[in-house]
Amino acid sequence: MTQNHKPQDAHPSSGCLFVVATPIGNFDDMSARAIQTLQQVDLICAEDTRHSQRLMQYFSIHTPMLSLHEHNEEARIEQIADKLTAGQNIALISDAGTPLISDPGFKLVRGLRQKGFKISPIPGASAIITALSVAGLATDSFSFWGFLPSKSGARQQKFEQLAEHSETLVFYESSHRIVACLQDLQSVMPTRNIVIARELTKTFETILSGQVEAVLQQVEQDGDQQKGEFVLMVQGATEQVSEISSDAKKLLSALLEELPPNKAAKIVANVTGLKKKDLYQWALEQKNT
Ligand code: SAM
Repeated sequence: MTQNHKPQDAHPSSGCLFVVATPIGNFDDMSARAIQTLQQVDLICAEDTRHSQRLMQYFSIHTPMLSLHEHNEEARIEQIADKLTAGQNIALISDAGTPLISDPGFKLVRGLRQKGFKISPIPGASAIITALSVAGLATDSFSFWGFLPSKSGARQQKFEQLAEHSETLVFYESSHRIVACLQDLQSVMPTRNIVIARELTKTFETILSGQVEAVLQQVEQDGDQQKGEFVLMVQGATEQVSEISSDAKKLLSALLEELPPNKAAKIVANVTGLKKKDLYQWALEQKNT
């Protein structure tokens, strides 16, 4: 079945899987609809049932729970499909934030979608969006890379692969690797502006921003800044516009008397080694003034 089919058609009398976001720190960020859904479903699949107990108690949710984590997710799919077929409604939650986002749930959602079951989101917090909303880095285009490799060599390699990307880069990072991660970032992209968002929505929420070296210094010098959960955001690569010397401008101006901008820019690029694109842009500006 393709995604274009309405899932309702496959199992008209079956239950629905609700993918429910939970808070990333502050329980009061839980939405009314999320509470109601968790109270009303027949079963809650949770990444760690013990961990989620505090949230359940806080909101007086007494629904039975079933563990669903990376080691048993595949095996749970049939079991959950049977319960949905029997008409039960089921919720999926993770320890914090939105399920599937660096958390279990992808295999289950993919499996149930392929089987045509109803799946409905109950949106709420996710650390990525929460962090981006206060970073002051470009948000018109960003990419999310989850957790970085744990070994320094592989991490640096990842940064090298991403160094030319022009969009804001977003990563999750843990407390025991944040310093090493920033050191690796500094070695690959030393002049980038970055933002680290720590312990969002919690008591010790801190947002540090600046060039990599300055932020690294702050984190190295203050042990408290190395504790908790982090989102690391890195400004995208900015295009280098080369400086056009006055000699190059004179030559280009002279050529523009006789040639179209494209050809003139090409000749000056060959003579001077400057980027044709920058010269062409300058040539167009001259034509328009
Ligand atoms: N599913 C979650 C979400 O939607 O954000 C993410 C789960 S992932 C296993 C946990 C990571 O998310 C942490 O290591 C940290 O990088 C980030 N994170 C979660 N809560 C956070 C918070 N309150 N402040 C900063 N980062 C957080």
